[in-house]
Amino acid sequence: MPDHEMACTCNAAPGGIAHRHRELEPEPPILDSILGHIGNTPLVRLNRIAKAEGLQCELLAKCEYFNAGGSVKDRIARRILEEAETDGHIRPGFTIIEATSGNTGIGLALACAIKGYKCIITMPEKMSQEKVDILRALGAQTIRTPTEAAWDSPESHISVANRLHKEIPNSFILGQYNSPYNPVAHYDGTAEEILRSCNDQLDMLVLGAGTGGTLSGIAQKVKERCPECIIVGVDPVGSILAQPECLNQPENGQYYVEGIGYDFIPDTLNRSQVDRWVKITDKPAFTMARRLIREEGLLCGGSSGGAVWAAIEAARSLGPGKRVVTLLPDSVRNYMSRFLNDEWMMQHEFLDEREEIRKQNERN
Ligand code: PMP
Repeated sequence: MPDHEMACTCNAAPGGIAHRHRELEPEPPILDSILGHIGNTPLVRLNRIAKAEGLQCELLAKCEYFNAGGSVKDRIARRILEEAETDGHIRPGFTIIEATSGNTGIGLALACAIKGYKCIITMPEKMSQEKVDILRALGAQTIRTPTEAAWDSPESHISVANRLHKEIPNSFILGQYNSPYNPVAHYDGTAEEILRSCNDQLDMLVLGAGTGGTLSGIAQKVKERCPECIIVGVDPVGSILAQPECLNQPENGQYYVEGIGYDFIPDTLNRSQVDRWVKITDKPAFTMARRLIREEGLLCGGSSGGAVWAAIEAARSLGPGKRVVTLLPDSVRNYMSRFLNDEWMMQHEFLDEREEIRKQNERN
């Protein structure tokens, strides 16, 4: 029986049921707003998947979908906004604009809803309808831009955000692609949490890169405290973030995984910290995300599947007693009509129909 459980036959229990009483965990404080529920996310051991894959080392995942807005990007949205408030760059009545693959937008729209700013989000068409619906529910205005537009073309989500900023008085661009507070939010927060949970014992870190803020911020702190830790970056085939450059052929390919990979190198990505890159494709990423849900109960998104797939590939070289940490950036909530849906998976040839029918028969 765990320490906090006591045998009890208390008549006051519902229906007078004899039960083992469980004490509450230490009292969580009353939060001023849900913005207080960003950070301190759980770090979870992937038991079944690591075993099934024959890994000898320990594999841990930081579950960032437990943040208030459902993703790792809540951390930077709150931090950059609060730094801008402190520096006097924004005041009540301001319009906050951001170009995003969706999650920074959701974190930002959440903060704007609470703090009372107007919010405009520009986002490529590729990103899921679920993200748009959440943004609208949070009161943000959304503008979709062509997915194929190069980052520096006038139609891209970045250029449209910049144009709106020039046109709208009292507006402010959050600027996740170049704000130092993007990586700093992870240097101060996410990395400290991981190191605290791991007692500074960490052999490999495997992280996907979009703006690179998560990767660069965490990697910098981890390198300071665990200099031997191997840093692995994860980049989709079709993106150009990986090094050496030969890994990035073919360039400008389309891929369905959202939130990672770009056709330019953001200022917030410091590639000199990365020891090794692993390229990923859609099918293994989505298949792994479905396995994380089915086998570990982790209700994560597609880039999480990509990160774990890459972590397994990279960690095969590590022996017993070694520890690998990866991160699950967002939740399946954003992808209910996409990789969670069998028909969508089959339409895109990410799921073999015969294999699915065989599994269904096995279950019945
Ligand atoms: N996964 C998802 C689902 C994301 O939305 C993002 C943010 N674009 C990332 C991974 C990568 O995070 P970062 O921008 O810090 O590199």
